[in-house]
Amino acid sequence: MVTGRILFLVIHVLGIACFSYIVAKRLVPLIRGERDLRFDHPWVRLGRVLKFWLGQWKHPRYRTAGTLHIFIFAGFIVLAIRAFSVLIVGVSKDFVMPGLSGRAGPIYDIITDYAATIVFLCMVIAVIRRLVFKPARYAVPARYGKAHTADAIFLLSLIAILMVADSLFAAAKAAAQFHASQSVETLAAFSLPWMLQRILVSTPLPALGRLYFGAYFVHELTFYFLLCYRPFGIQFHVETSLFYIYFAKLDREILKPVRWGVADEHLDQVKSFGVKTFEDFTWKHMLDFYSCADCGRCSDNCPANAVGRPLSPRFIGIKARDYTFQHYPVLGRAKNGTALIGTKDSGGIYSEDEIWSCTTCGACEEECPLLVEYIDKIVDLRRGMVDEGNVPQSLQKPLKALESRSNPYGKLEKKKADWANAKEFQQVCPVKTLAKANGTGTLYFVDSITSYDDRMQSIGRATAKILNHVGENFGILGAAERDSGHEVRRFGEETLFMALRDHNLDAIKASGVQRIVTADPHAYNALKHDYKDVPPVEHISQVIAREMKAGKIKFNPVENENSVYTYHDPCYLGRHNQVYNDPRDVLDAIPGLQRVEMTRSRDRSFCCGGGGLMLFYEPKEDQRMGVKRVQMAAEAGANVIVTACPFCMVNIEDAIKVAGFEGRMAAIDLAELVDQQIVRDALAPKAC
Ligand code: SF4
Ligand code: SF4
Repeated sequence: MVTGRILFLVIHVLGIACFSYIVAKRLVPLIRGERDLRFDHPWVRLGRVLKFWLGQWKHPRYRTAGTLHIFIFAGFIVLAIRAFSVLIVGVSKDFVMPGLSGRAGPIYDIITDYAATIVFLCMVIAVIRRLVFKPARYAVPARYGKAHTADAIFLLSLIAILMVADSLFAAAKAAAQFHASQSVETLAAFSLPWMLQRILVSTPLPALGRLYFGAYFVHELTFYFLLCYRPFGIQFHVETSLFYIYFAKLDREILKPVRWGVADEHLDQVKSFGVKTFEDFTWKHMLDFYSCADCGRCSDNCPANAVGRPLSPRFIGIKARDYTFQHYPVLGRAKNGTALIGTKDSGGIYSEDEIWSCTTCGACEEECPLLVEYIDKIVDLRRGMVDEGNVPQSLQKPLKALESRSNPYGKLEKKKADWANAKEFQQVCPVKTLAKANGTGTLYFVDSITSYDDRMQSIGRATAKILNHVGENFGILGAAERDSGHEVRRFGEETLFMALRDHNLDAIKASGVQRIVTADPHAYNALKHDYKDVPPVEHISQVIAREMKAGKIKFNPVENENSVYTYHDPCYLGRHNQVYNDPRDVLDAIPGLQRVEMTRSRDRSFCCGGGGLMLFYEPKEDQRMGVKRVQMAAEAGANVIVTACPFCMVNIEDAIKVAGFEGRMAAIDLAELVDQQIVRDALAPKAC
């Protein structure tokens, strides 16, 4: 026994020493990484740990895998105390965990018997899923390397062995107690230890002793092997996820600053913008790479991946993690400093197209059960490319136009309000251009696409008419309004964004308005989250829903009873700002309007492909995102797609033609539909 005790003591010491050494090496890049301020709001962060880590909040979004994970996680939590006490038993035979010496002990033992059984069964099911059912999201396309199936099966098998060894240890002990006519430890009926004890009941005592020792030995070795092996692959999330979720981003819709702790006015002192080498990532973003469980949910929901663009968010993380393992090895010296964007031969891990392919739609982040962040990383990589003058050809023209004319179309500022100033429209619905601090209550912030695109100007006119109808005292900035800079910022051109923002801020302040309304979710998101100290901002769908509930907006029945409507959630209204219900409430209030929901709706909405200056970028893809989206609408049985964003309108109208649905399907903006259906009664001011 003394020999056994020494052996187990050596295993403990070696196991803990190895694990500590490996973790210390894994922390090296994090120490070298950029700053990231994640130490605020400790109570909010703890609440999120309870919700997303302990409560496994996002896992049921994938029912089978999520349920399995919840069982495994719960089993691990229950077994954690048991594992700890079993480890100590090896060196101190009579050790009992404090609090478990009385009645609580047998109750806890019964719970752990079932927990070990459930975890074992989950491992068997998980292996069968991986080998037989092979969910598509686990597959690794050839361009991203080799499949991780073998590694996953190996790890699942190790956990299964751990459960069997633990159960065998308890079963052998109970069977030996029975032979020695001692009081027998209660084992939970039909649990794995219980079944093993039944098998072992006729085994001779000496053999049981060897089995007891052997099971313990296997348990110890497997436990420490798992502990030390996990930091080399996807299972590292078991150790990191608790910290990871604590430090997860609290305000997902706010883009990361260029450098944490450096105010905008001091950015000229920053030598390099964005992420160029691995060490330019923040420590938290590096922790993301360790924490990804490789479940594939992000890529399964990524529209860029779905249409065959060279982007799969899962591999943005996996490739960076592999890079860390290679460049910060556990044995040997760190080799840092290579550029991340470039060919494999040059040491790069990402291609330019990969990083430009993202629409910043947020579907990946919405889905990830571990709250891994992608948009900030992608924007930081773009900032790095822009800083080096590395901008795709098709985006150079709109960027130059934004610099010289403050809009991506290169149109004259003085033409910005032409849509509103047209004589015929002014007669129907006069729109004021705000003079300095004239005290007008509301600013309608139009933004570039609605101001300059002939088709989208109809959304501007419908919005103005709705505001006029509900008696809103509003105006526009006209030539004083510049592009909101929303896409520019997500494109990575921070300096240009700041110039546009500062000009707009001055104009908004000078106008003296108390609130802002916009019909463009991109402008809405910029004003709400990228700008500071602006009056409260609303999207027109929120205004319509509110005024409708107040009785100021009433609707005529739809004329065509054969029309079936579906609502497409714009990413920057839905996922980034959680405005899901207002547009639907408005549609449902229109008499006779038949509405169906697409399978991918609300927070699972599928991006039309318009975000992040994508209207001007032509990525390599098998199919357009918009085409896929209109096919989804057709599958849902709809022939009218309603959206609430001019960018969506451009893509969806175009996609209807490309997909061959012209004449059979139409797209309309919510503001246009409301303007069309509104009852213009005595309540409505003037001719509007
Ligand atoms: S933000 Fe959207 S497009 Fe970009 S990686 Fe995530 S899911 Fe894909
Ligand atoms: S980032 Fe999140 S969703 Fe994507 S593979 Fe990793 S854990 Fe899964």
